[in-house]
Amino acid sequence: MVTGGAGQDGWYLIELLLARGYEIFAHSRREVDPGLHGGRVSWYTGDLTNDVFLNETLAASAPDEIYNLAAVSRPALSWDIPIETALLNGLVPQRICEFIRREMPATRLFQASSSEIYGDGPAQLQDEQTKANPRSPYGISKAYAHQTIGAYRHQYGLHLSCGIMFNHESPRRPLNFVSQKIAHAAAAASLGLTETRELDERGRPILSDSKLYLGDLNVRRDFGFAGDFVEAMHLIVQTETPSDYAVGTGQTHSIAEFCETAFRVGGLDWAKYVAVDQSLLRKIDSHFTQADTSKLRSQIGWRPKVEFPELVKMMVLERIRILELSLLTENRSR
Ligand code: NAP
Repeated sequence: MVTGGAGQDGWYLIELLLARGYEIFAHSRREVDPGLHGGRVSWYTGDLTNDVFLNETLAASAPDEIYNLAAVSRPALSWDIPIETALLNGLVPQRICEFIRREMPATRLFQASSSEIYGDGPAQLQDEQTKANPRSPYGISKAYAHQTIGAYRHQYGLHLSCGIMFNHESPRRPLNFVSQKIAHAAAAASLGLTETRELDERGRPILSDSKLYLGDLNVRRDFGFAGDFVEAMHLIVQTETPSDYAVGTGQTHSIAEFCETAFRVGGLDWAKYVAVDQSLLRKIDSHFTQADTSKLRSQIGWRPKVEFPELVKMMVLERIRILELSLLTENRSR
């Protein structure tokens, strides 16, 4: 069972599990195109925060493994819907633990924990021992789930594990994440567009009069590729002993470096396009993330395969493809 199956990670994870011969059940709030993943997934549609629906879904699918990916997944959004965030990101994982404990104790759980549980600490490597100090409803809800799962594992001896996921991106990242916004603007600029139809969170074109407006360009993040990270999720569930693992690349890059790499794909100088909008300089949850993945590497042998420049290029090229397609469709319909 993959909750949040229609999200970025859900897509890559389902592909990986199908390739390994799994029978897959997945959850989404909305109707999903039944042809997705070649029609090989049984979808459950409903509200996971509804206890009855959650229990019925788990009882009907009776999964051997649960990958709990459903979440209000943007820290900024979690300030707008803090209660929904607490329920979905915090309480639903606990309810899943309760269901496993009561009804199917052999079922294994992977919980998508987050580096946002660390909050805005000092600029140093973060691992499983780093103290949680969350700074947003998102980070707090993820920390609650993380610690609850640790307690249930300890108390009941269940196979419950958390992957403390650092940023991971892909061409499937929604446009309201900064990485995809940059990739989209760089793609549009490389096609000679000065304005995009797609809007940012302020309702302004993502590329507006040849400018991409961003907040703090010095924020540094550990950026990896989602396709690599779902392999870690699967490996974590296969371990003999459940545990928590930091999942990241161990490298850190600034938003400015992301911009530089993205605009370079089209041979452009990022500095001519990127502008800082003071109103976007908000208090953010963490200015620096960098994973110490020693435990994951030594115990499980996982290593990321896709390097930062390749990841950024992959995202920009996909946005170019999408933009070209929509320009073609537009020209045809004229
Ligand atoms: P994503 O693309 O946003 O997918 C999460 C899915 O959760 C969404 O597709 C959505 O599915 C579901 N969801 C969102 N709001 C919901 C709500 N209010 N009620 C029920 N379902 C809701 O996120 P992702 O990047 O794949 O991340 C997967 C998991 O990893 C999340 O738990 C996220 O917090 C965690 N994580 C991700 C990163 C990262 O960098 N990607 C880093 C750390 C942790 P439907 O709309 O189909 O229902």
